[in-house]
Amino acid sequence: MSHIAVVGGGQAGFSVVSKLRSIGYEGRITLICEEPEFPYQRPPLSKKYLLGELGRDRLMFRPPSYYSENGIDVLSGQACRRIDADRHTLTVGDSEIHFDKLVLATGSIARNLPASMTGGMQGIYTVRTVANVDEMTPEFAEGKSLLVVGGGYIGLEAASAAMQRGMKVTIVEIAGRILQRVAAPETSEEIGTLHRCHGVELLEGVGLKELSGKERVESAHLTDGREIQVDIVIAGIGIVPATALAETAGLEVENGIRTDLQGRTSLPSIWAAGDCASFPWKNGRIRLESVQNALDQAELVAENLIGAEKDYRPTPWFWSDQYDAKLQIAGIGSGYDSIVTRRAGNSKSVSYWYYGQGKLLAVDAINDPRSYMVGKRLLETGKSADPEIVTNTGMNLKVLLKAR
Ligand code: NAP
Repeated sequence: MSHIAVVGGGQAGFSVVSKLRSIGYEGRITLICEEPEFPYQRPPLSKKYLLGELGRDRLMFRPPSYYSENGIDVLSGQACRRIDADRHTLTVGDSEIHFDKLVLATGSIARNLPASMTGGMQGIYTVRTVANVDEMTPEFAEGKSLLVVGGGYIGLEAASAAMQRGMKVTIVEIAGRILQRVAAPETSEEIGTLHRCHGVELLEGVGLKELSGKERVESAHLTDGREIQVDIVIAGIGIVPATALAETAGLEVENGIRTDLQGRTSLPSIWAAGDCASFPWKNGRIRLESVQNALDQAELVAENLIGAEKDYRPTPWFWSDQYDAKLQIAGIGSGYDSIVTRRAGNSKSVSYWYYGQGKLLAVDAINDPRSYMVGKRLLETGKSADPEIVTNTGMNLKVLLKAR
């Protein structure tokens, strides 16, 4: 019986194994998860799970019985230490496992603040795993002062949760603006205003110089000379693709495990999907850090493992919930040369449309699901959007979908 092994129990790993079964693969499947839990969703970790509004059971993609009922062997709490690509074997704990095909869905690792800065003090956290959040929860309490380092999605979502919890929150973002890597300046401004209106002290262009305290963190020294009292620190300073295993196995790595359009790595019988994989996109390569990518790419790899030969050509999309606002982004705006705004009066619904050489590249929509949906459909079908129609809030955007 053929055996497909999948390393990594995040969104991508789970999506490969569940898709394999749903499309009728009848061979053996083994899923190797380093964390002790069965596969679970990460998006609620910085939102409802952090606030205690969603229990652990509801984080899980499926109950444990799903895996046994579907003949999926889950090795949880066990890291894959080595791949021997020539012999088609994996070393997991002390055992050697033979595979016919292998999928690397190793995801990414949260960047930590340097040890020289944290000095072993308590009260400093990242938000990547359920264990990270469980450890933090008792301290994530009303009246405490939180310093968030990094104004990306993690930092902003954690700040929003903390304000809802009644904490005092400061965010430091070393770049000139929050969400610089992923969104238009206008979007950063809008989301920044949202946080300030909720009482967050948001400092852009400011980094963290030093943390001090005895056993616990007590104060933070910022690059603008300020010193603030803190009870707890959350670092949301980005992630790095988990490629160490792939590199030691001799796979090509280029900002992630290099794959072709169908998800094959540089070595036969080994595939990759999710945060850890970089794939051909437009005239270069891209690695996407999003749940949607992990799911779609992994399902496509599952189909290709049994011979579908499908290419992966996504229209990337992202979303983030902060307070009562929903940010939705379709496409990738990098390389834009102009931005057009659609907002009716003082409405809280707004969208920003990015163009490069007159062609639509991306849409950032805040509390504006219609703009997001229309923008996404246009991008999926390779169409642009007449800026005069976009800015005319009296016109229904759906006309754009009918244009040639
Ligand atoms: P991120 O999006 O890379 O944002 C990290 C931010 O921290 C960047 O703006 C970075 O600036 C800044 N930064 C780095 N070092 C810093 C320092 N020493 N002091 C102050 N600021 C610093 O990463 P993230 O927010 O940690 O999120 C991790 C991953 O989870 C990302 O892939 C993210 O997309 C994903 N995620 C997604 C969602 C969602 O889609 N809703 C929610 C949560 C997490 P530079 O860019 O200048 O380095």
